[in-house]
Amino acid sequence: MNHKAGFVNIIGNPNVGKSTLMNAMLGERLSIITPKAQTTRHRIFGIFNADDYQMVFSDTPGIIKPAYALQESMMSFVKTAFEDADIFLYLIEPGETELKDEHVFKALQETEVPLLLLINKIDLIEQQKLEDVTAHWKTLLPNAEIIPVSALRNFNTDYVLNRLLALLPESPPYFDKDALTDKSERFIISEIIREKILLTYQKEVPYSVEVTIDSFKEEETIIRIAATIHVARESQKGILIGHKGEKLKRVGIAARKEGEAFFGKQIYLELFVKVSKDWRDDARKLKHFGY
Ligand code: GDP
Ligand code: MG
Repeated sequence: MNHKAGFVNIIGNPNVGKSTLMNAMLGERLSIITPKAQTTRHRIFGIFNADDYQMVFSDTPGIIKPAYALQESMMSFVKTAFEDADIFLYLIEPGETELKDEHVFKALQETEVPLLLLINKIDLIEQQKLEDVTAHWKTLLPNAEIIPVSALRNFNTDYVLNRLLALLPESPPYFDKDALTDKSERFIISEIIREKILLTYQKEVPYSVEVTIDSFKEEETIIRIAATIHVARESQKGILIGHKGEKLKRVGIAARKEGEAFFGKQIYLELFVKVSKDWRDDARKLKHFGY
């Protein structure tokens, strides 16, 4: 069999069980999972590697924005999710009767991308109710293949995985199958650090920084990380470091704690600040490769 690879984009309202489902399907084979903090500029992928395939999952937590959210930003987000999807997993729970956002819903109705509609949490409902829910969604989304599941109880999750595999296009892997984990972990910790910077400083400083990971060494009981925070101007360096280094220290502690919770391991984190006028171009380039 030729190698298969593709992007599986998960869509659904908050709390319907997207993360639970991803974990249930991937179990220990999961390389990375989406961290809670979603101030990321980029989607973080959950990548599932096997010898002859690579499934790249992405949760799209921002897709269902509250009513006050800017239409524009949402549309651009939706666009991204629709641009690279090879398969859509649309997750609902039994009580839901509609997708709140009509743009997304319309796009789902019209998409030519294979669409699996998973009715999750079926452990909570009666058979009759399940039949009603299924019938309702069949009329709303005739193009979807409806699969009842319970992510929590692992019911039908293997079946979903098999369906995904059947629908996955033939393609070489998108990410390096060995080195990827390392790269993705670097990316996650850099995003965690960046988030703490956003939370610690005001005004323009947080927006003119970029974080690069100089080294990421995972040992038996500890992960040793060295990161550089790039700023555009000397004055920003002073603000970032703060009086006697207090501010930077605070960023470091917060990032370390969240990193430890995420990776489930002790972390030793060193932060450096560097003025580099040209970081933007390089960093952008790097990001395009999804580092
Ligand atoms: P997300 O926000 O869509 O990622 O949802 P989560 O995966 O965080 O799950 C939200 C809540 O629903 C958690 O309390 C889960 O334990 C629960 N949950 C997820 N799947 C199921 C399921 O199949 N059955 C039941 N009863 N609860 C579930
Ligand atoms: Mg989640």
